[in-house]
Parts: sequence; C-alpha cells; structure tokens
Amino acid sequence: MDYFPIFLRVQQRPCLIVGGGEIALRKAEALARAGARLHVIAPEIRDDLRKLVTTSGGDCSQRSFSAADVAGYWLVVAATADETVNAAVSESADAAGIPVNVVDRPQLCSYIVPSIVDRSPLVIALSSGGSSPVLLRLLRERLERMLPAAYGRLTQLAGSVRDRVKGAIPDGDDRRRFWERVLEGPVASAALAGDDARAEALLDAAIEAGASVEDSGGEVWLVGTGPGDPDLLTLKALRLMQRADVVLYDNLVSASILDLVRRDAERIYVGKRRAMHTVRQEGINALLLEHARAGRRVLRLKGGDPFVFGRGGEEIASLADEGIPFQVVPGITAANGCAAYAGIPLTHRDHAQSVRFVTGHLQGDQVNLRWPELAEPSQTLVVYMGLVGLRPICEGLIAHGRDPATPIALIERGTLPDQRVWTGTLADIHDRIRDAEVHAPTLLIIGDVVRLHARLGQQNSTIPGAPR
Ligand code: SAH
Repeated sequence: MDYFPIFLRVQQRPCLIVGGGEIALRKAEALARAGARLHVIAPEIRDDLRKLVTTSGGDCSQRSFSAADVAGYWLVVAATADETVNAAVSESADAAGIPVNVVDRPQLCSYIVPSIVDRSPLVIALSSGGSSPVLLRLLRERLERMLPAAYGRLTQLAGSVRDRVKGAIPDGDDRRRFWERVLEGPVASAALAGDDARAEALLDAAIEAGASVEDSGGEVWLVGTGPGDPDLLTLKALRLMQRADVVLYDNLVSASILDLVRRDAERIYVGKRRAMHTVRQEGINALLLEHARAGRRVLRLKGGDPFVFGRGGEEIASLADEGIPFQVVPGITAANGCAAYAGIPLTHRDHAQSVRFVTGHLQGDQVNLRWPELAEPSQTLVVYMGLVGLRPICEGLIAHGRDPATPIALIERGTLPDQRVWTGTLADIHDRIRDAEVHAPTLLIIGDVVRLHARLGQQNSTIPGAPR
C-alpha cells in the first residue's frame, strides 16, 4: 500500500487553495462541504469561487503566491495552470510540514484526494494510487448504483442509537451480532424504503429485545472457496466470511481469499500437506466442535468444493452427531476452475460423453484405481492429487488398454495469476515435464478434450493475463 488512507476533520481549520479557476473551484467546493475555513490566493479569481469562499466564511487574496503564504495552514492545495507556481507551493508546504496536494501532479503531492461515494455520514473513499483513474471511475459508478441514497439515513439512524445500544448490550460480540441482525433485517429494509418512522420503531423494539434475548450459540459454516481466484467465490461464501468469529483454513486457500475474511476473526491454520499433516483430521474435527461449543461462529474454509476430495463429510459428521448447527456452502471445484481457465471443456459432443473425478493419491508407491473402467475411451478423467503418482497413473491406463497417444494436461495453480499448463500424451508427458519444476496443487485432465486447449486455451479471456 503506497498511501495511508485517512479521513481528516477539517471543520473550522484553515485550508489554503492556490489558484482561482475551475479546478480550484471544485477543490473549494469539496473542502467547503467538509466545513473547512478557506483562503484562496490567485491573481485572478472567478466570481463563483469568490462567492463560495465568502459565503462559507473564508476569504480571498487577489495576488500572486509567495513561499511564506503557507504558514499556519492545515492543508494546502495547488490548482493553478502554472507549473512553476505549483512546484513552489509544493516545496514551501513540504518545507513547513504541511500536507500538500497539487492537482494531477502526484510527484508534487504529499497526500492525494480519493474519489468518493457520498452517503453522509457514510462515505466510501476510493483510490488507485494514480494507476487507473478510469477503472476507479467505473468502480465508483458501480458502488453508486449499488448503494441507494437512503444508506445515508440508515447510517444516521444507527449512529443516533449507538450509545444506547452500547449501554443495553455491553458484550462486544453480542453487540456486533445485534447490529448485523438490525442492518440486514427489517430495520434496514424500512430505512432503505424511506419509511424512517417504521425503521425507528423497529430499531427501538430490537434494542429492547436485543438486551434480553440470549444468543442461540455457535455454529459451523463449511465453505468452499473455489480453486484460487477470489472472483470465483460465491456471494454466500463471501457473506459468511465477513461474519465469522474464527476461521480454520488450510494451504489450498489463497492469501487473497483469506484477506476477505472479517479482519477481527481469529485465524487458525490447519494446513495439510502430503504426508505432513499439520493438524490431523481428528484434531480439526475437535477444534470445530470446541469453538462452536464456545458459542462462536466458526468458518471452515476449504479449497474448491468441500464435498469433492475435501473430507467435508467427515468434518460435519461429528458436528451432526453433537447437534451443532452447520451450513455447507459449495465451491467451484478444481476440475471446473482449471478446465475453464485452461480452455478444456470437460465434456464435448465429439470427444467425451462423460467425465470422472478420481483421486490419484499414492498408497505406498501404488495408485489403486479401477483401471479397466478408467481405460475406456470417450471419457474425460480428472485426477486430483495425481502429480506424484503421474507415472504409475499413465502406465496403469496404458497397461489396461487406453491409447498411449491419449492427450493429458497438467494444470498447476489453476485460476491463479501464475497458472501454468503443460500438455502431452500418456506416453510422453514425463519427458516433456522433466525439466519443468511442477508443484502442487496440480490437476491432471486426461482425454481427447485436451486437444481443444491449443485452440480454446489461448483465446480464453478467463485466463489471467490473456489478451481479450
Ligand atoms: N476440495 C478440492 C480438492 C482438494 S484435493 C476441490 O474441490 O478442488 C487437492 C487437490 O486438488 C490438489 O492435489 C490438486 O490436484 C487439486 N487442486 C486444488 N486446487 C487446485 C488448483 N488451483 N490448481 C490445480 N489443482 C488444484
């Protein structure tokens, strides 16, 4: 993060604007809205700017800027068309330790002004650090559309009873849940529909009840996060991630996904790597139970889908036995994610009428699969955990009659920005990857559909970084 975001209280604080044209006017309007006491210095000052400054309690000096002018100000803005003046303002403000912004000249700024979505008292500030103003504008437009104007009223309403709620519900966790119920329930609906009276009445009732009602206790959410790209999360996954008290995750859950979990949630790593179980399965089951029994909302994040080679069934079995409430949220499994991002349809009228997901996990140095079934042509095989057993898998298929020329793809870190794909045949894939260091997680896709990768893979705009 190159900039530290803050909201400054400028009410009644002296702020200097150097410049008297249209850009200066825009800056003055924003600062005046936040209650700043403005002083404008410029040899020429537009009438509307002058009027704005005087009506908001500030004043204007019709003259050129000189270095000593910055003294005593809280914030300085340079908005002139003259580069020498802009540079001089920046330099003298910097020397005096006063935050300075030169419009559209990031190198001369010690602060930049975010783009905002204003639903005061709710304000959302956005910045791309100067990297992409257009992307920023598009994002802001989306937020503008998403947030009805009444969000301001809802925020105000919440603010007006904040202290009362604090008094009525002293426990922090209880209070947070109370607010979540209020802000996602009928109170919010009424406020957003513009019915302030009803919203207030409902909120009053909720405060009365909230203080006396015991919370129902803990629960567990078993949530699939998809194969890695955070954009592949479901809305439900995201909603629960933002409400959890504690999160248990393993190494298939990418850092950018973990970033989306509520900041205050306790994070517990229970990663499992091949042959090196950080916390054994029974340990994970026990942890889930323990936290849920303590009344917490426990988020168990799983890469891909929890019910596809994820031992999700085992984790909730013990919860079901103990009567702990749980929810399971499906995720996009690696097969679907990798197939889409590598341009390999899993079924295809001409190439494959069925698809099987199998595990290639080694037992000893063997892969125990039902070879005769898997060797049949016209089907796609997706092998999870098959990288280490790649050679016995290819050999087993060939030995049971699958054509050695059958195409195979290895997809490493599918859907992530550094996804890599190798293709070959059952006979030659080992030679082809001999010098490539292929690492987990890697998925194998075997079958004629892999031929389509050459055509569909390159133009597939879902591949991170691919030309659109
Ligand atoms: N529940 C998960 C699978 C867990 S098993 C799911 O539904 O996807 C772990 C195996 O999944 C890995 O060994 C690898 O074969 C595969 N896998 C998971 N994420 C992957 C990814 N981003 N790219 C390639 N393979 C992946």
